[in-house]
Amino acid sequence: MGGSRMKIIDVQTMVVKVPVSIKIGAMPKFSATGTFVTIKSDEGIEGTALTHFSFSDLALATYIDSALKPMLLGRDPFLIESISKTIYNSTNRILFGIPQATSAVEVALWDLVGKALQKPVHKLLGGHKERVSAYASLLFWMLPMQLANTAKVVMDQGFKAIKIRIGKSLKEDEESIKAVRNVSTDLHVMVDANSAYDDIKKATKLAEVCSKYDVEWLEEPLPSDDVDSLSELRSRVSVPIVGGENDFGVYRFREILEKKVYDIIQPDVTRSGGYIAVRKIGGMAESMGVKCIPHIFGFGLIAAANLQMIGALSNCEWMESPFFPREFYLTKQLMTPDKEGLVEIPQGPGLGVDIDWEAVKKYRIK
Ligand SMILES: [Mg+2]
Repeated sequence: MGGSRMKIIDVQTMVVKVPVSIKIGAMPKFSATGTFVTIKSDEGIEGTALTHFSFSDLALATYIDSALKPMLLGRDPFLIESISKTIYNSTNRILFGIPQATSAVEVALWDLVGKALQKPVHKLLGGHKERVSAYASLLFWMLPMQLANTAKVVMDQGFKAIKIRIGKSLKEDEESIKAVRNVSTDLHVMVDANSAYDDIKKATKLAEVCSKYDVEWLEEPLPSDDVDSLSELRSRVSVPIVGGENDFGVYRFREILEKKVYDIIQPDVTRSGGYIAVRKIGGMAESMGVKCIPHIFGFGLIAAANLQMIGALSNCEWMESPFFPREFYLTKQLMTPDKEGLVEIPQGPGLGVDIDWEAVKKYRIK
């Protein structure tokens, strides 16, 4: 490389669909799809990322191919902040254009830079840790009996923590939480309502139920847009109130932090603008005594991308591990927990993992 300047010469997209359907809260059922973005340099080094779920990957791929690619061609892939500003300022600053697309481009640039320098991204960001405790994040709402059985499977796989989906009714939610708590008093139990309640009185009661069963945190009990109600709720209850997966960018997170909305914020590098954005957001949180535990949900490279961020954050003590069939991670490294429930931050260059391209091609739809 020497003193010469590297140049981006191509950007390619590939849409995949794996045979899993997902049902979160009140959202309609949707297929697990994503767009692989590969950025190529004139030195033969390339970086790849996968977009977070969106309802139209064809729209995402078109946006990347037609709008973002021209902004990348000819640029030095090491000037990621500069490229990110170009994209942000060229997309009318509305949610960074399409946040899944712009975030994936930023992550792919870091993968490229990591591969050029032969270092994992977390070490380039100023590394903090090589291992992190993982919690199994369930994909669906389940009946209490199913939840209890799944909690046992999760523990057999080494996890010391589980996150369950709730939000049916206060009565059913309490039954769900109780069923999991009864499996083991040692299990850390996180509870995610995915914005199911829109009434602060009910949310307060739900938070009290969480305290009663020693729940680790209560996630998005109210609409994530309703920051004032969330802040009011947080001031009333003792269980930590958590959220941020549906929030994007530094300005939004500054508002969230100033309004004391959450005890833990959950920006996602594949949704909230990439590593530099989440580095800044995590730093703001740190200065206010708030934890920053990235959201991770989905298949493919989503976990690897966020694990690299976790490896660089000092105010992050958990990794969300989506309870997907591991074959759909589409990587050689499966990021499973050891006997202590710890997952290693992948140490390979860039995102740290090797993509199983044969598997990717098998699920390609465009
Ligand atoms: Mg969530």
